Amino acid sequence: MKASLQSLQNIKSYIPPSEFYRAELAAMPPPRGGGWRDGGLCPFHNDEHTGSFRVNLETGAFKCFSCGTKGGDIIAFIQQRDGLSFPEAMEKLTNEWGL
Ligand SMILES: [Zn+2]
Repeated sequence: MKASLQSLQNIKSYIPPSEFYRAELAAMPPPRGGGWRDGGLCPFHNDEHTGSFRVNLETGAFKCFSCGTKGGDIIAFIQQRDGLSFPEAMEKLTNEWGL
């Protein structure tokens, strides 16, 4: 990891939320435009119907109206889905996205 990429702000600027969620959410419909969009099936509970999980393709925020899981950015998404600490989530994103 390059020293210049170790801050949260840099991670966020290098990984657009729209690209991130398209890669992470297999059931997400093709995104059109930004803002809050249907994220497909919620990865935080045993979701069988789309429609309750929303992602913000500009900020990376996410919210499930069924199980109540929410967060403000893609780091929070990785932390909660994979049970990682903040530094672990940063490292995972850095490795997976080749930063
Ligand atoms: Zn949910």
